[in-house]
Amino acid sequence: MPGELRHTKQKQAILEALDRLDHPTATEVYEYVRKCNPFLSRGTVFRVLGAFAESGRVRKVTLAGSDARFDKTLAAHGHGRCRVCGGVYDVFLPDFASLASNAICSGFHAERCEVEFYGICNDCAKKNMCESTNIT
Ligand SMILES: [Zn+2]
Ligand SMILES: [Zn+2]
Repeated sequence: MPGELRHTKQKQAILEALDRLDHPTATEVYEYVRKCNPFLSRGTVFRVLGAFAESGRVRKVTLAGSDARFDKTLAAHGHGRCRVCGGVYDVFLPDFASLASNAICSGFHAERCEVEFYGICNDCAKKNMCESTNIT
């Protein structure tokens, strides 16, 4: 297989993993693509993800105390982290875009912005409610 075509296939596999997985870490992407592409090396996956992030094709999300995650949703949004299951969820805020411009007004040139919420996701909240119905 010509090198260029192989590269295209590798990129497609990685993009597909980003579609299927929700805010995966590079390791999670690697583990996913490896199932169908056993010859794809960890180094290649990490390199391609880095290149995607660099070119703005995916967003690299850095949350406190967690490995970098990769996000195909490019629209401005924050993230909520569930303290029960550890899941990462998109949080869309209507005024998100103005946050960065407000930062510039206050004398700092923001290049990116990471807004992180801590709490409990819908699924865990439901489970929690079911478990606590007996408690008065
Ligand atoms: Zn949860
Ligand atoms: Zn996201």
